[in-house]
Amino acid sequence: MVALEYWAVIVSRSPIDGALLREVAADTLAQIDEKIGAAARAFEAWRNVPAPRRGELVRLWGVVLREEKEALGALVTREAGKIVSEGLGEVQEMIDICDFAVGLSRQLYGLTIASERPQHHLVERWHPLGPVAIITAFNFPVAVFAWNAALALICGDSVIWKPSEKTPLCAQAVMETLKKAARRFGERDVPEGLFACVQGGAEAGGQLAGDPRIALVSATGSTRMGKAVAAEAAKTLKRTLLELGGNAALIAAPSADLDMTVRAVCFSAVGTAGQRCTTLRRLIVHEDIVDALVARLKAAYASLPVGDPRVDGTLVGPLIDEDAFRAMETALAAARRDGGVVHGGERVDVNGAASFYVRPALVEMPAQTDLVRTEVFAPILYVLRYKTLDDAIALLRDVRQGLSSAIFTTDLREAEMFLSAAGSDCGIANVNTGPSGAEIGGAFGGEKETGGGRESGSDAWKAYMRRQTQTVNYGTSLPLAQGVKFDV
Ligand code: NAD
Repeated sequence: MVALEYWAVIVSRSPIDGALLREVAADTLAQIDEKIGAAARAFEAWRNVPAPRRGELVRLWGVVLREEKEALGALVTREAGKIVSEGLGEVQEMIDICDFAVGLSRQLYGLTIASERPQHHLVERWHPLGPVAIITAFNFPVAVFAWNAALALICGDSVIWKPSEKTPLCAQAVMETLKKAARRFGERDVPEGLFACVQGGAEAGGQLAGDPRIALVSATGSTRMGKAVAAEAAKTLKRTLLELGGNAALIAAPSADLDMTVRAVCFSAVGTAGQRCTTLRRLIVHEDIVDALVARLKAAYASLPVGDPRVDGTLVGPLIDEDAFRAMETALAAARRDGGVVHGGERVDVNGAASFYVRPALVEMPAQTDLVRTEVFAPILYVLRYKTLDDAIALLRDVRQGLSSAIFTTDLREAEMFLSAAGSDCGIANVNTGPSGAEIGGAFGGEKETGGGRESGSDAWKAYMRRQTQTVNYGTSLPLAQGVKFDV
């Protein structure tokens, strides 16, 4: 990895109006090193605490989060620019994953396996893994940490978090909620360094990824970042859990319920101002309904309430910063050069020149160009047409990312085809509900350049533990596997 300079200070600005919120001191290389050391020592104590007792810490964290939901949600709105219900929704997601993890703390089940040898038994047992580094993106400044931390903590791991340099205050506030939970748990029972936060930029994330004391690096962000982290982690062959860029598609079939489709498209494409990894970026519409659907979407887009995310009724808040706005402008110019017809996409003045609000863009494209295959983190929805379902699925798959997808159809055969092995190649495939806004109960993540990681529900907990196959001989002879003879 290229040696990067360590930040001295991180400046938090609100995307709502560009106001300076606070400056936060960044961690130095030595401070990060110290925190990793403390996390490694904490792990050695925490792994011996019974898992249901570890679950109690996470249960208390969920209680504190319930108490502080309003305040933390408001901070997410202030620092990341999400509308009020989405800021609160993120905290709700933290609460949900805490509840899930508490139940799981009594269900870290292994297997019993039939042995081929007499008087032997084989079991598969799950042990704590080690210190887990969690690198997160700006667009989920609190929930993604919780997805990882709640599971890692009940699994017996220590956690060390490198939040986005765009949302350092959210991270500080979340750490305070964990500290509060630890005090209620009994501080003496929480080893020093069990959870820590490292403030910094790419260099801090790189240091965590490269340090041999870290057992797993769970990184959420762009594919570019994931490739750098994977290369760094590969030097010590440590485990990675990568949650990277997306390029979600929705297929609107001839039988689709158009009312439902319009609602799903709007939420998925413009919610969080197009700054979700699962944001709908490609609408693949059957030629028979394309005119009707696009006409309805154009009308819906033209009346979308773009504005201050704190104001009741706003559905589209600001982009995170000027870079995001410039990237959107550049993409729309390229789309026009590629023959696209752009509706919307212009800047909207809400709170002055230091903030960047846009009307979401709907772009009718003649084909799926390289531009369409590239994730631009802004509310741009490309519309493509198709004739046969096979063509639509081929378009859906013809991108490097593989996170989320959906089909709107009332035809059972089409729905099943979409869900089959020859259908969507994404980690998430939905029928008659949009690609954005997953529940915590399912495993979350995607294939190809999305990184292959799975977080949150289902059996994602296994990523935070190590599996040990144990063979016990309770007999008085020593038979070898596969009938091998080795008598000495
Ligand atoms: P980003 O990649 O710029 O930054 C993400 C995090 O990685 C930050 O904490 C950053 O400091 C760190 N980082 C950057 N370069 C690094 C390096 N070389 N080594 C170590 N750490 C490094 O992403 P962003 O702009 O904050 O977020 C938007 C991106 O995140 C989009 O691509 C989006 O799709 C993706 N994302 C994915 C998921 C998912 O679950 N798949 C969820 C949220 C966001």
